[in-house]
Amino acid sequence: MGVFNHAEFDNHESLHYFHDEASGLQAIIAVHSTALGPAAGGTRRWTYASDADALNDVLRLSRGMTYKNAVAGLKFGGGKAVILANDTAPKSRELFTAFGRAVNSLGGRYVTAEDVGCSVADMRYVREQTEFVSGLPQSGGDAGGDPSPWTALGCFEGIQAAVKSRFARDSLEGLRVGVQGVGHVGLHLCRLLHGAGAVLIVSDVNQDNLDLVRSELPVTEVAPAELLFADMDVLAPCALGNILTSTTIPKIRAKIIAGAANNQLATAMDGARLAERDILYAPDYVINAGGIISVAREYYGDGSEEQVRADVSRIKDRLQTIFDEAKASGRPTNELADELARNLVAEGPL
Ligand code: NAD
Repeated sequence: MGVFNHAEFDNHESLHYFHDEASGLQAIIAVHSTALGPAAGGTRRWTYASDADALNDVLRLSRGMTYKNAVAGLKFGGGKAVILANDTAPKSRELFTAFGRAVNSLGGRYVTAEDVGCSVADMRYVREQTEFVSGLPQSGGDAGGDPSPWTALGCFEGIQAAVKSRFARDSLEGLRVGVQGVGHVGLHLCRLLHGAGAVLIVSDVNQDNLDLVRSELPVTEVAPAELLFADMDVLAPCALGNILTSTTIPKIRAKIIAGAANNQLATAMDGARLAERDILYAPDYVINAGGIISVAREYYGDGSEEQVRADVSRIKDRLQTIFDEAKASGRPTNELADELARNLVAEGPL
């Protein structure tokens, strides 16, 4: 499997493979850039069809973290970890302590936190082995803990900004919002959307997560294969990436796409396809930065929850600027965001 000539390599600084026989750990940590600070990005535990798929995912995710952290104005570069889930390596304390040793061996070049398939409890095990981890519960109103509610808040306010831009309305009352994936972020987002009067359409492949949202909120459930194309005003992807493609985009009925999932666009060209269809796309790494904003304040020990809230509220302003520029220039929002991120990285630390 080629690495240096890989389509997603994009000048990664380093790539690290880890194996621990006792726990069965197989993990890859990708460090895309440390230009603005230690490479920070969560750990995803997922069942990949092949090692090549895992490599592809970690490379795309870590570059996305460089862009996300730069646009959010954080003292972080970009990196990401994936743990390959399989039957011989079930979730266990041993697995995450082995992973903690792997993170520690990089000496702080990479800082981790939870992502899909990992929880606060897992990060506690990682913390037993390394200080280069965030997303752990704090006390006394200090910033920290599960990043998901902050990601959901940033997405909610980003959806409000997108609705204002695309539909010229201040309220979400009565708007149909489809949430793909009601896990950590999706569930919180559903609560906020419901509180603002939105009508919820949801899908998930995990029945327990669906049952939980249904027990709390009035939702219409649709099959995972149908959600993207359902009759709705706003699509909020909160599951996995690569969902916006040349095949799916022509069938999407929503006029806004704004959600937490990383790497929603299969390729940069798909951003142009959305713009051609007059679908307003909130660049994923701009709208979903709430969690890493909390992680950064926690990691550097320099803030309270109230400061995180204030930082997160700037996400909607950044989106508004991108939406305005897209309107004025006719350029796709993803292109504008990528340009901004690359310029910020090139300028170096603040
Ligand atoms: P999660 O694992 O808690 O939730 C994801 C949910 O999506 C699960 O319930 C899963 O069953 C569901 N799902 C998977 N495939 C699906 C499909 N095809 N159709 C419908 N549902 C499907 O993860 P999360 O922490 O809520 O993160 C969701 C997304 O947001 C991910 O892409 C993640 O990388 C991104 N993200 C999360 C955070 C955060 O703070 N947790 C921050 C930034 C970005």
